[in-house]
Amino acid sequence: MEELNVKNEELERRKKRVKRMKRAIIITLISAILIPIILCVFLFVKVNSMQKQIDYLYQVREQTQKEEQLAKEETLKTTQQEEQAEAEILASELPETTEVDKEQEKKGNGKKKVYLTFDDGPSTRTEAILGILNEYGVKATFFVVGKEDEYSMEMYKKIVEDGHTLGMHSYSHQYSVIYQSVEAFASDVERLEVLLRTATGEEVKLFRFPGGSSNLVSNIGMQEFIQYLNSEGITYFDWNVSSGDATSKELEAETLVQNVVQDVEIYKSSVVLMHDAADKPNTVEALPKLIEQLQAMDVEILPITEEVEPIQHIKADELEEKQG
Ligand code: ZN
Repeated sequence: MEELNVKNEELERRKKRVKRMKRAIIITLISAILIPIILCVFLFVKVNSMQKQIDYLYQVREQTQKEEQLAKEETLKTTQQEEQAEAEILASELPETTEVDKEQEKKGNGKKKVYLTFDDGPSTRTEAILGILNEYGVKATFFVVGKEDEYSMEMYKKIVEDGHTLGMHSYSHQYSVIYQSVEAFASDVERLEVLLRTATGEEVKLFRFPGGSSNLVSNIGMQEFIQYLNSEGITYFDWNVSSGDATSKELEAETLVQNVVQDVEIYKSSVVLMHDAADKPNTVEALPKLIEQLQAMDVEILPITEEVEPIQHIKADELEEKQG
């Protein structure tokens, strides 16, 4: 009896052990199946959400690119409009010279004087222009804008060293900025004065308004800007002869030469408007022919100095009248 009991207990224990082992095996099996499935689901969800994020970022990037493109086009349009406006102003604003003026000028004694002026430099063409002037032994006047790169700083210096006259044409040449207020104009001019003093060691006291003193861009009367220049001892020069190199349709070099020569024949003293700009190759091409023709006309080609009687579209007496 005792022996049977012991056997039964042994059997019970075995059964329990087998049961435990079965449970362990089942749990292991279930884990082996479930854990990968859970992991898969988890990774699937994760990948999905990352894909969504990537799609979103792509959309944002595309949107940004589109906006940048639009902004660029807008800027380009504005620049083109400003350039066109300037070209139109330059083309339309030659001063009306009365027949009496022309007669009086013709009667003057001595040789005709011609002042060649180049606006908007320094540019990639400055060196070529200086080379041609040097070759013909001719001095001119450069109304420059503000550029601080090494080449431009070198060009300011070279203009002065070669014996030409350096004049200011505003630092930024942006109508919308400089003609906004006298304060804006003054700080722009001062900035250029300082730059040119640094580059050349000289005080520059000549000025040409972008678009000329009779430009129609400024909302403020030009008298206010002129008063500022006067108070600073700066003289401004417009022009009475235009080569036409700033018209919206580019003119042939030959036409530029003719434009200048036919007007120089009229005046005793001619201040000739030309441009020193990368996009005006015809000005450089025209320059040797122009100088040769002028020299054949026996005129004096001179740089502008502070002693030269300025050509001004807004005359001093008109200014006084306006001021009362
Ligand atoms: Zn200009």
